[in-house]
Amino acid sequence: MRTKIFDNQTLITQIQRFSVNDGPGIRTNVFLKGCNLSCLWCHNPETQSFTKELYWKNRLCVQCGACFDVCPNEAINPPISPEEAKSEESTYYKIIKERCDNCMKCVDSCVNGALEIVGKALTIEEILDEVERDALFYKNSGGGMTLSGGEPTAHSDFANRLITSAKERDIHVCLDTSGFCSWEKLELLANKSDIILFDLKHIESIVHEKITGVPNELILENLSRLVDSGSEIWLRILVIPGFTDSIEYHRKVADYLSTLSRPLDRIDILAFHNWCEDKYSWLGRKWPMGESQAIDPADIDHLTDVYESSARKITIGGSGFDIRLNLKPKYALPTT
Ligand code: SF4
Ligand code: SF4
Repeated sequence: MRTKIFDNQTLITQIQRFSVNDGPGIRTNVFLKGCNLSCLWCHNPETQSFTKELYWKNRLCVQCGACFDVCPNEAINPPISPEEAKSEESTYYKIIKERCDNCMKCVDSCVNGALEIVGKALTIEEILDEVERDALFYKNSGGGMTLSGGEPTAHSDFANRLITSAKERDIHVCLDTSGFCSWEKLELLANKSDIILFDLKHIESIVHEKITGVPNELILENLSRLVDSGSEIWLRILVIPGFTDSIEYHRKVADYLSTLSRPLDRIDILAFHNWCEDKYSWLGRKWPMGESQAIDPADIDHLTDVYESSARKITIGGSGFDIRLNLKPKYALPTT
């Protein structure tokens, strides 16, 4: 169930400034809260749910019990010793989620910053005013706003109005999507965006469903239609240990891409990492890829060869900063 908010607002988990890996130039990423996929390796688990959530940061908690005292729903576990709570073996978690109604009274009671609300309802104007703070950097680097999530197409009405208003303010827009939505929704948003960052999770539908919760036929059909439409597409291919880390897998993807009506504008091959582990623990969830080692981008450099004829540009890591940099010195240096 979605958190009840006003019609002109949606829940945002973060507005991240100075991003250089999600489209060209220096960008501000706007993360919408709510996604219709549940990828096993999701690096932003706080963006999956459409409702506000609570982080409990066990390392900041001194087990004072103030939150326990104010909770009207008996949704907070009583304090135990801090050492016990922080030990490696501990299964203690502060919040009893089934009883919590997200009233957020406990957050104000915690003076240690151990409780944090995840998800803030913002209007389009509030988001764009924040995004526009870096307008000068966008101008000099070819950057702009990247609408991400969560899944923007799962917020299609709000995303449509946000992109429209961004374009009215002359802000460059990248749409980051899984492509899992009706073609009508995707086409509407894609036509207004400058670049589509299209995340390909897995090429085989059965595996795709197993690791994301949905099959991929609709996604591949949408990708094909986007290619035909002429949109600028940067395909993002993740290298996930045990799922998409073999050369055979990437050859299969390249074979599929060769059936599209034209090469893609760009492919970014992204290495799996596990920097998100803390976020899972703050949400009281187990990081499903806890046994997997992060992949060193240098170790997957050879994969660019596989996609040689699939796109006009191929990167490992997806930096967009190097290709449109247009910094000019404020004063010309004297030549004599
Ligand atoms: S958000 Fe409200 S119901 Fe949930 S744990 Fe905090 S005080 Fe209790
Ligand atoms: S109020 Fe904060 S520090 Fe005290 S027990 Fe609750 S979460 Fe921990």
